[in-house]
Amino acid sequence: MKIVTVIGARPQFIKSAAVSKAIIDYNKEKEEDVIEEIIVHTGQHYDANMSDVFFEQMHIPKPKYQLDINGLSHGAMTGQMLEAVEKVLLEEKPDWVLVHGDTNSTLAGALAAKKLHIKVAHVEAGLRSFNDKMPEETNRILTDRMSSILFVPTDSAIENLKNEGYDAIGSSIIKNGDVMYDASLEFTPFAQKPSQDIPKNFILCTVHRAENTDDEKRLRGIFDALNEIAEDTAIVLPLHPRTKSYIEKYSIKLSKNIHAINPVGYLEMLYLLDNCNMVITDSGGLQKEAFFFNNLCLTLRDDTEWVELVHHGFNTLVGADRKTIVSAFKNAQSENKDFSMNLYGEGDASNIIVNALVNYMQ
Ligand code: UDP
Repeated sequence: MKIVTVIGARPQFIKSAAVSKAIIDYNKEKEEDVIEEIIVHTGQHYDANMSDVFFEQMHIPKPKYQLDINGLSHGAMTGQMLEAVEKVLLEEKPDWVLVHGDTNSTLAGALAAKKLHIKVAHVEAGLRSFNDKMPEETNRILTDRMSSILFVPTDSAIENLKNEGYDAIGSSIIKNGDVMYDASLEFTPFAQKPSQDIPKNFILCTVHRAENTDDEKRLRGIFDALNEIAEDTAIVLPLHPRTKSYIEKYSIKLSKNIHAINPVGYLEMLYLLDNCNMVITDSGGLQKEAFFFNNLCLTLRDDTEWVELVHHGFNTLVGADRKTIVSAFKNAQSENKDFSMNLYGEGDASNIIVNALVNYMQ
């Protein structure tokens, strides 16, 4: 069985690392190469610290195809990816195209496959923020609709699909848990302290969503709040290149107690998650990882796809308003939560994917 995996952005490297490992383990167990995985890297993220480091640290098989498509508008990027992935698929003729998450690479991979009548499997299907201005929301909805198997991480994702009429569509919906949970279990024993100076007590923060970075008012609100929080507690901020350029563009000043560092590799991120006191982020992945590491999370957005974390009080949506963020931060400090709930599966989400792909063919 041949699978072409299309990836291109940081969170997809992490997700696909977990699945690639499960494929390799499957072949080892069967003592033959039952599954051949071919990786296509669209090039959406390309810096050494946004891409290469994940391949090295997480032993992701080397991409057979590097498409080098980046730095374009959404339409141009998705269009060029569609054309380039189609060429790969015509050459490789896979049984499956596997896509992860909600980026332009996800949509382009799924669409190229669907047009060629190649089956699509979508990992992290069914998630909805119900914010149709988010490019990710469009990517998710369209990718789900083109997929033969939708691997959903949560009950709320199943509910979303039911509400969209998926019972009548005929695709398989499989609740498999979260491949990012698999990755965190696998790699936490290898967590590494970053080379930069990391304070003893700190809050871990990341900001990169376009809705925050591209909007001066929101970005200022967020950094005003972080500067205020940093009067009491150090903040470690691995800085996404887009955010860095907007901070410079808007001449936003950062407090000395905000340790802005370059984006870190996954093993360093696991160290930071394990050692921080709280997470403040607009990242999808980090909202869950905060929970995996028993940290409360404040999410710098007005909505989230990971609603169960909010529902159970592990995560608070704080938007981009200074006062709301600071007051939620103060409230969260007195919280003492029990994190023993199982929200994201048993750490076998990737094995479930591999078995389902094989069984579907039989
Ligand atoms: N991440 C990382 N280094 C960083 C920032 C994030 O390894 O400097 C990891 C993070 O732990 C998570 C993933 O990248 O697993 C999330 O990616 P991102 O926030 O870019 O995307 P999102 O999850 O919002 O789609």
